Amino acid sequence: MEERSLWYPYAQMKTLSPPLEVVSASGCQLQLADGRELIDGISSWWAAIHGYNHPVLNQAIADQLGQMAHVMLGGLTHQPAQKLAEKLVKITPQGLDHVFFSDSGSVGVEIALKMAWQYHKQRGHTEKTQFIALTHAYHGDTYMAMSVGDDSDFSAAFSHVLRPAILVDPPYEKDQEEAAIQALKQLLSEKGDQIAAMIVEPILQGAGGFRSYSPSYLDRATQLCHAHDVLMIFDEVATGFGRTGKFFAADWCSEVPDIMVLGKALTAGYMGHAATLASTPIFNAFYSDNPGDAFMHGPTFMGNPLACAVGLAGIEVFQRENYLAKIAAIESQLNAELNELKDHPTVKRVNVLGGVGLIELQSASLLKGFSEFAAQNGVWLRGFENYLYTAPAYIISEAELSKITGVMKEWVGRW
Ligand SMILES: *Cc1c(COP(=O)(O)O)cnc(C)c1O
Repeated sequence: MEERSLWYPYAQMKTLSPPLEVVSASGCQLQLADGRELIDGISSWWAAIHGYNHPVLNQAIADQLGQMAHVMLGGLTHQPAQKLAEKLVKITPQGLDHVFFSDSGSVGVEIALKMAWQYHKQRGHTEKTQFIALTHAYHGDTYMAMSVGDDSDFSAAFSHVLRPAILVDPPYEKDQEEAAIQALKQLLSEKGDQIAAMIVEPILQGAGGFRSYSPSYLDRATQLCHAHDVLMIFDEVATGFGRTGKFFAADWCSEVPDIMVLGKALTAGYMGHAATLASTPIFNAFYSDNPGDAFMHGPTFMGNPLACAVGLAGIEVFQRENYLAKIAAIESQLNAELNELKDHPTVKRVNVLGGVGLIELQSASLLKGFSEFAAQNGVWLRGFENYLYTAPAYIISEAELSKITGVMKEWVGRW
């Protein structure tokens, strides 16, 4: 690459092949500077669930821009933040009644972890400092978010400074559930008094490798945590807003987490924002006459009016246009089209859940050149490690989705 002023993410700048330049995007199509059009199979890291250049969302931003782009939330307040907070309380599982905004998913996770620490401290439990996380977890790239992650590619460079969480295995197969619960039970009875919270990507793990596990494990884990005064945090930055087939992955469960983090699709793919939702017992541990009990966090752009306005409009479109039905249709099409590959010798695993379709190949070397191949065939997809996946916008047409799965199948079929 010639260009060095712009430093790209997760990339070795010396060997990076030149990124494709996008000049505009609408629906599920990306228009490139060289005139090509690609169908977007990743919806910009799972965020652009409505597709691009959506008239209702554009209008919501334009209307808000005419009023004000931003004001601080310290000492000032505004309707967009209040309305989005109320809406999030309404649509998330009952009991998550308090919303703390921030500017990205990683920061939303940091906030959840800090909240758990301070919650226990204010109840006299300064010894509760550790976190439990799941193997293959990904929770973001800031310091504590990396610490509760388990993916060496993202955090290997920092392994010498991280403060690693205690990892437990979720049951990826149904017959592993009992053993997984017994292991968690044992851990909590030995170390529960030192543990502040357990953090999970509920039902579906994302960037750490697209593994899914049962809601019943989550329900039992939540009950076990609560028996040991350990908080349960659901990181729904990726799973929220329909990706697992329900509005939230928490909707698959009977138990409600103490804290939930939302990001990515929260703002319909338009801009960075996140929300950390907390239960009333947590909120109440900060609510007192002592200023020192306040939650000491406050991102400059928290509650940004443009982000809140587009977030609110996105939720209204999601509900009005019955996105859950669209996601169910995507799921059955992905199942029908990707499961053909199940017995292919280079395929280790095919996993479809809601709006995500995954093919795990036998080795990472089988993915070399895949993204370029997909682009040559009119589709934007990007594998990582040995995973080939799609997580399209929910407005995708049947023909567009077939084109995406067709490219995935053609690539695998080369062996
Ligand atoms: C993407 C992601 C994050 C981090 O969000 P950013 O907005 O990139 O900081 C955290 N948790 C999960 C589960 C994610 O998928």
